[in-house]
Amino acid sequence: MRRLFHVLVLLGSLLLLHACASTMRSKNWESALGPVPHSKISPEDLQQKLKITQAFIPSGRYGRISNRPMVPQYITIHSTQNYTGDAFAHAKALRNGALRGGVIGYLCWHFTVQDNAVVQHIPTSERGEHADFNGPGNRYSIGIEMCEHKRNDLARTIDRTAMLAASLMYHHHIPISHVVPHYHWPRKGYNPPNKNCPHFLLEDGKPGRTWAWFLSRVQAHYKRIEQQAPAARPDNSNLANAPGLPGAPPLPGPVFASYVARKED
Ligand SMILES: [Zn+2]
Repeated sequence: MRRLFHVLVLLGSLLLLHACASTMRSKNWESALGPVPHSKISPEDLQQKLKITQAFIPSGRYGRISNRPMVPQYITIHSTQNYTGDAFAHAKALRNGALRGGVIGYLCWHFTVQDNAVVQHIPTSERGEHADFNGPGNRYSIGIEMCEHKRNDLARTIDRTAMLAASLMYHHHIPISHVVPHYHWPRKGYNPPNKNCPHFLLEDGKPGRTWAWFLSRVQAHYKRIEQQAPAARPDNSNLANAPGLPGAPPLPGPVFASYVARKED
């Protein structure tokens, strides 16, 4: 009986320690970053702050081998679990067709974020291969990878990702309830089907208090954005005219012009 009591006490304290560890983690990140300012910011200024470099996979090759238009309805957050490559190294690998997988044989996603920069790999009006094969995660979501290489400041990477998610929510009319971890999308035929990704924002491989903290950070950035009257907002819904989508029929919903192919270097 006494032994059982000791085991229970031990289990209880382990659980408590675990909960404290995750709270500490997000508290440390929050104090390193400071609170998100309350002052308003224009959608354009927020986008400027993100420092997005567009280094698109060539149209018609690798992850963009076929023309697959998408109207994004979700934002999926990942982490690279690559402890050597930065955002630019991932861009290079994607542009060289070095990352294989998915239903077309090549992986691709929309953005990779590191502490001081964002690199965009495909337009947000095109489908990626980053979540769940032919599932809704790939068919309807914008994929964002967070870097984990050495010397990369993780707190600043998380905050830049939250800012990017807020900007994309605004431009694509995506609600906060549709900002999800990769975990959200089960992968058919995998055990476990739900991936522990992004691992440092999950508890025991599932969304918990750290994920809730991340979403509060996204929401705080979103609340700063000056909402403009619909008439004043850029509406690039006629995708037939957008580069990278030759002859595609017009799709419903606005796609912010600057997230669509602007330069391909
Ligand atoms: Zn993932």
